[in-house]
Amino acid sequence: MPNLIEVQNLGKSFGDNEVLKDINEVVKKGQVICVIGPSGSGKSTFLRCLNVLEEPTAGKVLFEGNSLTGISENELNNLREKMGMVFQSFNLFPNMNVIENIKLAPLRVKKLSDDEATKQAQDLLERVGLADKAEQYPQSLSGGQQQRVAIARALAMNPEVMLFDEPTSALDPEMVGEVLKVMKDLAESGMTMVVVTHEMGFAKSVADEIWFMADGAIQEKGNPETFFNAPKTERAQDFLSKIL
Ligand code: ADP
Ligand code: MG
Repeated sequence: MPNLIEVQNLGKSFGDNEVLKDINEVVKKGQVICVIGPSGSGKSTFLRCLNVLEEPTAGKVLFEGNSLTGISENELNNLREKMGMVFQSFNLFPNMNVIENIKLAPLRVKKLSDDEATKQAQDLLERVGLADKAEQYPQSLSGGQQQRVAIARALAMNPEVMLFDEPTSALDPEMVGEVLKVMKDLAESGMTMVVVTHEMGFAKSVADEIWFMADGAIQEKGNPETFFNAPKTERAQDFLSKIL
């Protein structure tokens, strides 16, 4: 499989706080990567560097072979369109209803016609199980429903990869499952995904690879079976002993 994202000697410092240290990794097309690790280890910063929401202070990020650093804001935005992102907080536009939220970028950026954008948004709402919520406003939806709309909105740009930063961490427990189900379906449809998560059940059953991050570096990676049953590094063993 071709490399979709490649990071080379990626580093990120905030002042003298070196948060990411010389990371070299590849995400291949169709892969589902789950990034796990302790709080403060740099997981969000790493994810945000993948689409240069955070500007790396060292190294390179390549997307489909194109450098995302050292290019104009225009070029960056064009490449970024192909990378959907879903955050812990859903970030829906509160003054727009569900279908308007989903149609906005396709209309403005992709220049779809209103009919095309509506049709696509309806299909996406169907896919995330919210076909009947098109006209509702975000604040009238549950957290789980809002997060499913946020996923549909990201998918509306037909991204090549979806980046998730703890998409279920802000949800009440009873809503976690419905969001993970949508993500699992997406993974099974062949979407390339990088998911920062504390949901170990999801990581075990859906990930092709686990990347364990601590102290700003990927300390260990492997298939879920091996990683969860027989972690090699002491750091990973310690982390797993605390959470499993
Ligand atoms: P994680 O997602 O694993 O909890 P983060 O990537 O959020 O970790 O944070 C890693 C470190 O980077 C923390 O020490 C945090 O304080 C620091 N950090 C993250 N974002 C910023 C920022 N915008 N400015 C300064 N420091 C930051
Ligand atoms: Mg984080």
